[in-house]
Amino acid sequence: MTNTPTRRHADTPNTGLIPSELIMAHALENAINHDGKPNQKSILSALFAEGLEKSQIKNTIPLIQEVIQEVTNLSPEKQKEKFKELEHKISKREIRVGLKELPSAEKGKVVMRLAPFPSGPLHIGNARTAILNDEYAKMYKGKFIVVMDDTIGSEIKPIEPEAYKLIEEGLKWLDVKFDKKIIYKSDRTKQYYKYAEEMLKKGYLYVCHCEQEKMHDLKIKGIECPCRQLTPDEQIERWKQIFKAKEGTATVRLKTNMQDPDPAFRDRVMFKISDRPHPRTKKKFRVYPSMEFSWAIDDHILGITHILRGTEHYMSTRVQNFIRKIFNWQNPESIYNGHFAIKGVKISKSKGAKEVKSKAYQGWNDPRTWSLQSLHDRGITKEAIRQFVLGLGMRQTNITVPIETLYALNRKILNDAPRYFFVEQPEKITITGSPELTAKIPIHPNGKHGTREYKTTQKFLIPKIDFDLMQNGNYRLIHLLNFKSENILKAEPRTFSFVSTEHRTANSEQRPKYLQWLPADDKNIKVEILMPDGSKINGLGETELSKLKEDTTIQFERFGFVKLHEKQKDKLKFWFAHN
Ligand SMILES: [Zn+2]
Repeated sequence: MTNTPTRRHADTPNTGLIPSELIMAHALENAINHDGKPNQKSILSALFAEGLEKSQIKNTIPLIQEVIQEVTNLSPEKQKEKFKELEHKISKREIRVGLKELPSAEKGKVVMRLAPFPSGPLHIGNARTAILNDEYAKMYKGKFIVVMDDTIGSEIKPIEPEAYKLIEEGLKWLDVKFDKKIIYKSDRTKQYYKYAEEMLKKGYLYVCHCEQEKMHDLKIKGIECPCRQLTPDEQIERWKQIFKAKEGTATVRLKTNMQDPDPAFRDRVMFKISDRPHPRTKKKFRVYPSMEFSWAIDDHILGITHILRGTEHYMSTRVQNFIRKIFNWQNPESIYNGHFAIKGVKISKSKGAKEVKSKAYQGWNDPRTWSLQSLHDRGITKEAIRQFVLGLGMRQTNITVPIETLYALNRKILNDAPRYFFVEQPEKITITGSPELTAKIPIHPNGKHGTREYKTTQKFLIPKIDFDLMQNGNYRLIHLLNFKSENILKAEPRTFSFVSTEHRTANSEQRPKYLQWLPADDKNIKVEILMPDGSKINGLGETELSKLKEDTTIQFERFGFVKLHEKQKDKLKFWFAHN
C-alpha cells in the first residue's frame, strides 16, 4: 500500500480530501491574479476558508502541487477559460464571524430595522448596527427596513435636513442591502394620532397640564396627578384642545403604574407640543409622539421580528411592550449590544453640525466628524469596516476597541496600493562623491504597477524630521545609495560622503538608517496632506504623482496611506488614512 492520494471528483462525499476541482478553481484564480503562477500557500489558505481541516493538510498538499503543475503549464488564455468553467465551485464566502443565532428566528421570516436619527451622517459607530442588521437579514434571508427616526428631535438634537441623503449614501456605500422603500416617521404622524385616540378612549393615556417639575416630583413620590383621574371623554376633549395649546403646557402620558419600583417607568410622556418647524413636514404638525410611542406602533405595523439595540434601551423595550400588550400585539425580540467605544475616536454629531455650518470643518466629510463619508474620503475601505464590525460581533458587554484595529484591517486590503515618494518639510543635503545615477524604482515591490525612473545628482531632499535626528553614522537613501555622515556637528552639517549603491544587509552595527528622499530639482510637486485631526502636513512629492486620478489611494513610503482628494494646478491635496 502506498500513501499516494487519489484524485476524487467534486461530488464525492467528504472522505478527508478536498475535491480536486475546488483546488483547481482556487489555483486558477490565484494564477490569474499572480502573473500565471499559482502560489501553494495562498491556495492552502483559500482552502481553509472552504473547510479544509488541519488534519487534512498532509494529504492535500500533494494534490495541490499536482494542480499547480497543471495550471502553470497552461497559457494565460487557457487559465482564464478553465477558470470560467470552475468559478462556481468557489464558495461565495460571506464572513459572519461571531454572529450568534437570533432567538426564535426563522429563515425567510426575519424582519429587521435600522432607525437612524437624521442629525448628521452615519459615523463609524452607527456602521456597526447597520452592518450587523444587514448580516442578520442576509443570514436569515429576511427583510431589512430603514426607518428614518425623524419624529421631531429636540432643541439640543435637531434634525439636519441634509442628513437624510447622507445616511442613505453611507448605507449604500457600506453595501447594506435594505428595502428600497425607506420609511419616514414624519410621514406617519396621523397614524400615531389614530392609536393615541384609541388609547385615550380606553383610558390608557391622559392629557396632563401639570408643570414638568411638579410632575417629576409626583412621579418620584408615586403620587397621581389630578389629570390622570379625568374620564376618557374629558381626555378626548383635552386631546382636541392640545393642538391649539401653547408649547410646553401639555403632554400626553401613558398610564403605567405610579407605584412601579422604577420611577422612570411611571407615566412617561408619549406626546408633546413643538413649534419647531420640521424639515420635511414644516408646520403641518405641532403634536409629536415620543420615539417610544412611535416604535411601539411601528414595530407592529412593519412586522419587525428582531431588533438590535443598545443596552440603554431596556426602558424603551419595557414601555413598548407595555403598549403592545394593550393592543394584544406580539413583541419583537430585542437583542442587546453593549456600549461600543473606539479608542482614539471622539464623535459628536452636534459639534460636527456646528463646525460644518461655521465652515470650520470642510463639510460632513471632514475627518473630524468620523462620518462614513470622511472614512471613504480618507481611503478606509468598506471591506475593512465590515471586517472590523464582524470581528466584534454582538456582545452585551461594553467594549472599547482601538481605532488601530480598523487601520490594520485596512492596511491588509491596501497592500497592493502603489507606493510613491513624499518628503515632509524637505531639507536639502549634498552627498559628495555620488555619481550621477538613474534610479529605476518599482512602484510596488510586487511589480504590478511598473517602475519609474529618476536621474539624480549629488543634491537630495530629505524630511526635516529625519534631518534633525541625523548623527554620525551610516545612512541609505531608499532604493538608491548608501552614504555616511562623519562631521555632522562640524562646519558642514548638510554635506555627507557617498559610500556605495548596493543594498547590503550587513551586520547590525553597519546597517544603515533608511531615509526617504527626492532628487533636489524643481520638478517635484507640492503636496498637502489633511490629517485625521484636521491639521495639514506640507511637503514635496515625486513627479510621477501628477499621473494619479482623484480618489486613488496610494502609499507614501515611510509615511502612510493617503487618498488623492483634489488635484489643483500647483498642488496635490491628499487625505491621510493611516500609517
Ligand atoms: Zn397632570
